[in-house]
Amino acid sequence: MLSQIHILLTYGCTFECDHCFLYCSPRSKGTFTRARIAKVLDQACEMGGVEWIYFEGGEPFLYYPQMVEGLRMARDMGFATGVVTNGYWATSEEDAEIWLRPLAELDVADISFSDDALHGSSETAPVKMAIAAAEKMGLPLGVIRVDGEKVKFRGRAVDKLSAGLPRHPASHFGECPYEDLQSPDRVHVDSFGNVQVCQGLVIGNMWERPLARIFAEYDATTHAICAPLTEGGPARLAGLFGAPSDEGYVDACHLCFLTRRALLERYPDLLAPRQVYGLD
Ligand code: SF4
Repeated sequence: MLSQIHILLTYGCTFECDHCFLYCSPRSKGTFTRARIAKVLDQACEMGGVEWIYFEGGEPFLYYPQMVEGLRMARDMGFATGVVTNGYWATSEEDAEIWLRPLAELDVADISFSDDALHGSSETAPVKMAIAAAEKMGLPLGVIRVDGEKVKFRGRAVDKLSAGLPRHPASHFGECPYEDLQSPDRVHVDSFGNVQVCQGLVIGNMWERPLARIFAEYDATTHAICAPLTEGGPARLAGLFGAPSDEGYVDACHLCFLTRRALLERYPDLLAPRQVYGLD
């Protein structure tokens, strides 16, 4: 049952990380307006059962007024809220408190910071000051660290980080290790309306059909991409549509992502937006 909606407030980001699932960069297009955030929240209410609304990206603090307004609307509707940020905005610990104070006042229940070498973080990085300020204010913070072993090979990681790593044949990856595609308990939604059960894997468009209808009509066994993934993982997907490489794959997501990217022209509504596959 759906319990979390992660609003991709923008695909734009201050960084262009090699391991980014969504291929975000300062040039990425696609940002929510206040009206569109309100529409997502209304649809989440109508759906029932949704408890959490997250604001993430990209880097959601790039659109700080919309993010704070979205947090306020979500809080007023009774949702628990969270944000994910790289902390680029912390010019000093003292100033970081100014950015964080409205979030404290809005009872944001989870403030997660991306803090690792892959995010360009060093001992003097802004995110360290942001974390220190959040700790001092007693905010509910989490730290997301992606070291080399935790990289999942989707998005830009496939193109930037997979070279030279040990590989396995497609038959090795007989299940999706991370997502419950039959009964998702969380989805990501973007400003184009895409409702994604994994990055770039779409089950409907919120601007065309309300979320409650998308979920009522969604059946993984009839979805052209989710059906083979639930039956036999990326191995089945590649078996059905053709393996995209004969060099083997680093992990299940690597095989899944490459197979899906080769199918973009065939299933433009189910595999979107193109930019998360590294294509314009
Ligand atoms: S195997 Fe595919 S659907 Fe599953 S988490 Fe990896 S990329 Fe997503």
